[in-house]
Amino acid sequence: MSNSLIVQKYGGTSLGSLERIEYVADRIAKARKTGIDIVIVVSAMAGETDKLLKMAHRLSKNPERREIDLLLSSGERISAALLALALQNRGIPALSMTGRQIGLQTDSTHTRARIINIDAKRARKMLKKNHVIVVAGFQGINEEGDVTTLGRGGSDTSAVALAVALGARQCEIYTDVDGVYTADPRVVPQARKLDVVSYDEMLEMASLGAKVLQIRCVEFAHKFKMPLIVKSSFKEYEEDKGTLICEEDPKMEQPVVSGIMCDKNQAKITLKEVPDQPGIVANIFEPLAKASISVDMIIQNVSDQGHTDLSFTLQREELDEAMVIMNKVAKKIHATQVGANAKIAKISIVGAGMRSHSGVAAQIFKTLSSHNINILMISTSEIKVSCIVKQEYSKLAVNALHDAFELQKKVAKKKTAKK
Ligand code: ADP
Ligand code: ASP
Ligand code: MG
Repeated sequence: MSNSLIVQKYGGTSLGSLERIEYVADRIAKARKTGIDIVIVVSAMAGETDKLLKMAHRLSKNPERREIDLLLSSGERISAALLALALQNRGIPALSMTGRQIGLQTDSTHTRARIINIDAKRARKMLKKNHVIVVAGFQGINEEGDVTTLGRGGSDTSAVALAVALGARQCEIYTDVDGVYTADPRVVPQARKLDVVSYDEMLEMASLGAKVLQIRCVEFAHKFKMPLIVKSSFKEYEEDKGTLICEEDPKMEQPVVSGIMCDKNQAKITLKEVPDQPGIVANIFEPLAKASISVDMIIQNVSDQGHTDLSFTLQREELDEAMVIMNKVAKKIHATQVGANAKIAKISIVGAGMRSHSGVAAQIFKTLSSHNINILMISTSEIKVSCIVKQEYSKLAVNALHDAFELQKKVAKKKTAKK
């Protein structure tokens, strides 16, 4: 580990205009004056990735994922080159690099590729020469040399992976909020910033809709015990401590509930009158797994005259592809109908303290029912409870639960016992 090396990642809003890029360049210049070596990872400028995606979908109904990857990777390259220019203009030796140039190798799952290895030889050489390296995040190359991307929010993962490969002291994620909150501060005005969050909790939060960090970035950081710090790029360098994500400390205060997450990017598929026979469920989920589509909650109704209804949830962007597969599967297994619902949201309550406290689920159900919010699906794990509700109720549900668990207060009351 190099004690003097820090990887800093700047997100889209932080680089959203030339003025913002100038501001980030000034921050980097200040940070460098403290004597640290810096590797920067950048996202595309705000809105750029969505704009490119829209263009692709206007030209093609079902665009090839390989082409999408090449297209989207350009967004990060633009901000990397612009930031390097702004740094050079301040007399700082800087060098922008694409995923290929930084040696980030991935598998071939286009648009959601996994990192296999980073061959950081060139980066190390440039660091020795005292250069600031500005890496285009979110992208790598596969075995064939084709450009791949790491899924939405993937620059977070590029940053942690680079921090690990280069043996950095920590990885700092600069964004448009000053840390990880008890709920999305844009949805819950009462949300409170958390000073420290354990990897386990952050993993749950990220996978349940707190888009402030991509889930794979937290997985990586956890696996390699890389300290992660979420901070605002809109504040002065060193002005604020942000949120530290690190190993759970037994001495750390463990509130029963640390956060309420909302994921509106969900969809539900229902297969009606599925024959209730061994092997049928495998027939449904195998082709989805083959297409790298992850399924989240699954509910199978009680069998009625040899038939059952089966519903499952998945990420909305994978709905169209999953429906094509499900329509084929339904014919094969003689299910009578396949339906999709994209107007749902998953509300999740996360807290490491739930391990030793019960009654959390009951309090959630009571709170939602007192606001007349119907629960469509439920799932629980050791440290979370998730409920699917109609999307129109998501804001109300998150705010009501945030209130009910008094998360605006410094330490949530431990008034409940085991889930
Ligand atoms: P970037 O472009 O910097 O990667 P993102 O938009 O991906 O930024 O993530 C930051 C956003 O995450 C914030 O603007 C905030 O609205 C949202 N967010 C959702 N849940 C949370 C949470 N629990 N804490 C902080 N931010 C959250
Ligand atoms: N530009 C990509 C996105 O918008 C990756 C990132 O920002 O991390 O998802
Ligand atoms: Mg992001």
